[in-house]
Amino acid sequence: MKARRPKGTLDFVPPESDRLRAAEELFGQVCRLAGFEAVVFPTFEHTEVFVKSSGAGSDIVAKEMYSFSDRAGRELTLRPEGTPGVVRAVLENGVRLPCRLYYTGSFFRYSQPQKGRYREFHQLGVEALGEASSRTDAEVIRLGSEFFSRLGISDCRTVVNSIGCRDCRPAFRGLLVGFLKERREQLCTDCQLRLAHNPLRVFDCKNATCRNALAEAPVPRQHLCSGCASHFAGVLAELKRLELPFSLDDRLVRGLDYYNRTTFEYVSDSLGAQDSLGGGGRYDYLIEEFGGPATPAVGFALGLERALLALPEVDPTRRRALVFVVWLTEADISEAQSLLARLRREGIAARIDYDATRLKQQFRSADSARACCCVIVGGEELMRGACAIKDLASGEQTEVRLSDVVEQLRRRLALSGSAPAGVSR
Ligand code: AMP
Repeated sequence: MKARRPKGTLDFVPPESDRLRAAEELFGQVCRLAGFEAVVFPTFEHTEVFVKSSGAGSDIVAKEMYSFSDRAGRELTLRPEGTPGVVRAVLENGVRLPCRLYYTGSFFRYSQPQKGRYREFHQLGVEALGEASSRTDAEVIRLGSEFFSRLGISDCRTVVNSIGCRDCRPAFRGLLVGFLKERREQLCTDCQLRLAHNPLRVFDCKNATCRNALAEAPVPRQHLCSGCASHFAGVLAELKRLELPFSLDDRLVRGLDYYNRTTFEYVSDSLGAQDSLGGGGRYDYLIEEFGGPATPAVGFALGLERALLALPEVDPTRRRALVFVVWLTEADISEAQSLLARLRREGIAARIDYDATRLKQQFRSADSARACCCVIVGGEELMRGACAIKDLASGEQTEVRLSDVVEQLRRRLALSGSAPAGVSR
């Protein structure tokens, strides 16, 4: 049997797999600098965790969850998003609030696969729990944007909106429902259902006739209570102070029930139909709904596959920051091994090929591993206390004293641009 990966899943093999891990590591660095700590939580939860938080009427819960009963009849679901699991874990473990947490991992949604949309995908997320200030919203928004820019995505735009709170949303909702009811026949069947459960979600619909029907619709931002209006003004003022360019989008409501006040999204025009790199918002009621204390919170989730798609493609011939130690004869192997161990101790990635007895075969191995250079150990050079460094890109070879080899290699690795944190091209 020739096994194939399931529909909607991806394999990451080198060099793309290195890029994925390097992007996750970069995300961790950016988050830790802003005082976030890692949280790791299960890939599956009791189904009710997602139903309770995301809303039974949300597309994710209604159509996209991978749910199953386990052998003991428990109803479980592969996580379609991170926030509910984080909130559950914080409360279950009695984590002290306020806290700032970040995560990376796989998420699962049963949707029609296309470029940028998969059934298993990776998200990078943060949750700032217990912070109410509009300055936190802006700081969190900037964090995502900073990550994309440090990753090398130059066309990431930030879009923001406010969707109100428990106080002002009911009145707005009534207004919107009245407006939509008059245009019910112009709405797609999904939106007609949304009208009953969560009319705000109609703004999410990509259907052209629904969009036309909404052209003159009232929008949440025009109907905020004074608390929400001043919070949002605070977010915008802080974004300006942080010099983060953004645009306003009155229709940005996001697909989950738990958001209130600020919503935001990162968009890249190079991605085509699936142009959202990530998004998030404030969710001040969710922790309480999970049985915890009333706790304001704000967070985001970024899509790693889309981030990689928005970057220029990896050059498959690009050399790595890897040194190949090459030996001339069996008698030189132990010296080669000492050098190999020394390089690794000094933080330089190094490999050796024990099986290839001929020099040419060893060079071929080095080349297929995309090493940037070889260090040749043996012969007269070794007797002089030296070795040869061969640059695999140029073919140029130079003799170096064994005592200087680490220093020399460091310089070359720095100059070659084949850095191990190879997120960018
Ligand atoms: P959401 O929670 O739906 O707003 O998702 C946040 C981000 O995760 C999106 O902006 C995408 O970048 C990414 N994402 C969501 N669903 C998928 C999917 N099915 N495949 C790939 N990436 C996804």
